[in-house]
Amino acid sequence: LRSSRAPSSALTFVIVGGGIAGVTCAEQIASQFTSDEVYLLTASPLVKTVTNFKQVSKTLEEFDIEEQPSSVLEEKYPNLKVVQSAVKLLRAKEHLLQTENGQTFHYRKLCICSGARPKLLTQDNPHVLGIRDTDSAQEFQKRLSKAKRIVVIGNGGIALELVYEVEGCEVIWAIKDKAIGNTFFDAGAAQFLIPSLGADKKDRSLPCKRARYATDKTGAGHSGASGELGSALGPDWHEGIELRGAVQVWLWPAYVQLTNKKIYGCDFVVSATGVVPNTDPFLNGNNFKLAEDHGLRVDDHMRTSEQDVYAAGDVCTAGWEPSALWQQMRLWTQARQMGWYAARCMAADVQEEAIELDFCFELFSHITKFFNYKVVLLGKFNAQGLGQDHELLVRCTKGQEYVKVVLTGGRMVGAVLIGETDLEETFENLILNQMDLSRYGEELLNPNIDIEDYFD
Ligand code: FAD
Repeated sequence: LRSSRAPSSALTFVIVGGGIAGVTCAEQIASQFTSDEVYLLTASPLVKTVTNFKQVSKTLEEFDIEEQPSSVLEEKYPNLKVVQSAVKLLRAKEHLLQTENGQTFHYRKLCICSGARPKLLTQDNPHVLGIRDTDSAQEFQKRLSKAKRIVVIGNGGIALELVYEVEGCEVIWAIKDKAIGNTFFDAGAAQFLIPSLGADKKDRSLPCKRARYATDKTGAGHSGASGELGSALGPDWHEGIELRGAVQVWLWPAYVQLTNKKIYGCDFVVSATGVVPNTDPFLNGNNFKLAEDHGLRVDDHMRTSEQDVYAAGDVCTAGWEPSALWQQMRLWTQARQMGWYAARCMAADVQEEAIELDFCFELFSHITKFFNYKVVLLGKFNAQGLGQDHELLVRCTKGQEYVKVVLTGGRMVGAVLIGETDLEETFENLILNQMDLSRYGEELLNPNIDIEDYFD
């Protein structure tokens, strides 16, 4: 085994994963500890970098994502080395890692950002696909071009985008909930969005402010060392990929039976039923506390239960007592925030400084796009964890906007804003300052009142 050991005077930081969490963490550490070595070990040949970062309001942020060759990072940070090889073993007590290409790395501080992979309905079935990375999206596109009918299973963001984007192919969408998109929406919002499914998509070029995903045009290799380890695609994963099926008579290669007893033949099944954190190579022989969703449990300093091992992004599960207005969701924004905060925690620990949980974990906030509508989600947007103890106010203009606020005890705790509502900043403030809004009642959503002026 070749060994990469840092001189004893220098700290060695090792970060695993070239997705948004790992790259953000590595960049932050490399820029702060310029005379120390920083290693980024990743299974995929391209790394994800955040560009055009914009803080839209106190907690809402927008940015673009670019897949770039690792040399771009190395040029920017001379003390950062990117090693393209998957980690196959971690011995946490000895502070060492081994990669598939036979290298051993000794670390003082390690941050695991290995992401998550699709939870597949059945494993090793050639007719069941999961979409995770550029490779699997291309495989999907190839299969779709010959398909007459596909079955999409799941009700989260990926399934929502898929059923909207696929054309020229019949889509059977199997969901177990009463309304579509229940990870993000309630039945009212779902109802608002449903007409878009059958609508003409000619307006697609409308400008839209949201994270845009761009793949490297150089054609640099795609597959990770072990095939399944690419970075999660994130927003706009279908951009530039024509999702159009073949219209011809076909003998079904696969059949699915739903719980309503109906059986459908299809060319293939897309399993979009959530993700499983990529923890496998790190667990054997170590003593990690795992959360119920199998993520590496981290405390409010992003520390796992193994000394000097931190974790961020999709691979980890927040194990701290969360703010009443925040919840973890395995999303792009949170991967960036966690990677950045984990780096700051690693630095604070090294420098023996105190650090407080970052403000971004105070309020859940997310900007995205569904069915070509801008979507902003704030706080307990679906009344998560509130039971019956809440009230909803809704304003809806068909084809234009859907505004929902969640109130409890007269205070706003969450909101869903679909369309160009321009309400995000005001609502964010009302949620953060927990002002008693009882006396405003339904006036709060009166379209004739300029709510921004009202609360100024
Ligand atoms: P990843 O981006 O998955 O990166 C993990 C990295 O770890 C990869 O580089 C991988 O190669 C590497 N790795 C894995 N195992 C090893 C190992 N053993 N050794 C070394 N390296 C390893 N989020 C949104 O906010 N909005 C969206 O619209 C959205 N759409 C999505 C659509 C799709 C199809 C998918 C799959 C996800 C989507 N997400 C979306 C989720 C978002 O992409 C993820 O939350 C985010 O990318 C997680 O970042 P990460 O850095 O934690 O992990």
